[in-house]
Amino acid sequence: MRGLRISGLFAVICAISSAALADISVPPAAPGQAPVSSAVRADPPSSLRPRARPGLLEAALADQLAARFRRPEAPRVIKDRDLLPVQGQMAFAASSSQAIAASLKPFRRPDSVVLKAMAQRQKRIKGAVCGDPDLQGEAIGTVPGRIFGCGIKSAVRVKSIAGIDLSQKAVMDCTTAQAFKSWIRNGLKPAIGDAGGGVAEIQIAAHYACRTRNNQRGAKISEHGKGRAIDITGVRLHDGRNISVLEGWRRKGTAAILKRIHRSACGIFGTVLGPDANRFHRDHFHFDTARYRSGSYCR
Ligand SMILES: [Zn+2]
Repeated sequence: MRGLRISGLFAVICAISSAALADISVPPAAPGQAPVSSAVRADPPSSLRPRARPGLLEAALADQLAARFRRPEAPRVIKDRDLLPVQGQMAFAASSSQAIAASLKPFRRPDSVVLKAMAQRQKRIKGAVCGDPDLQGEAIGTVPGRIFGCGIKSAVRVKSIAGIDLSQKAVMDCTTAQAFKSWIRNGLKPAIGDAGGGVAEIQIAAHYACRTRNNQRGAKISEHGKGRAIDITGVRLHDGRNISVLEGWRRKGTAAILKRIHRSACGIFGTVLGPDANRFHRDHFHFDTARYRSGSYCR
């Protein structure tokens, strides 16, 4: 039923269309020529190509505008500084499609600046250890242990971390070097802030050393013997002042800073020891990356 209705409607449309076509007279095609559709022929041929610019008119307009905006004292040759966005010149740039507007790009930096920056970057990449340009030093590979339980598989000798020098190059593994960096960034630097111009150097008392804990005979191998520990006696500020653990731990003015530095290492390192831990640590902080089931040990 529905199909019948549709086909009926189609028949009506066809009838109307053929009637409309019948009204348009199509002249007979010339012999050997295909008949041309009246619909195509009716419209004038219009090209989608842009029209060629009227060169002469454009040049005349440019001359007129240039004369209008030319300052009497201005030289004929336009120099860079003349292209600065002076109102008149901007108007000139906007008026002519052939004019080039003053560039908003910053001026090219002198080659010496670029070369210096590139050289510094190359140096940083070259001196990077553990794949991190913030860790500067050298990879030294396997460090064999003098006694069983000592030694490091992939050791690095670090000389600076996150832009802060170490008072002596320190041997450790990459896990420890990364923890050290994390503490410098998130603990040490914020604790010192701008005091004395900021941290210039971290004073390292010990790093890798094949020895027992606290050098006690018969004790277990220290984390220092595995390249996982560092001992820090203090920091030197940019103004030359020192903040030392031995003198500053209980002194007014430095005590709060040192306690904050000590506390901030807890969690980043597995073991954090300071003057309150025992008599062996009254002059330094011991940080190591040994992990315990019970979490970090901080004292
Ligand atoms: Zn230590």
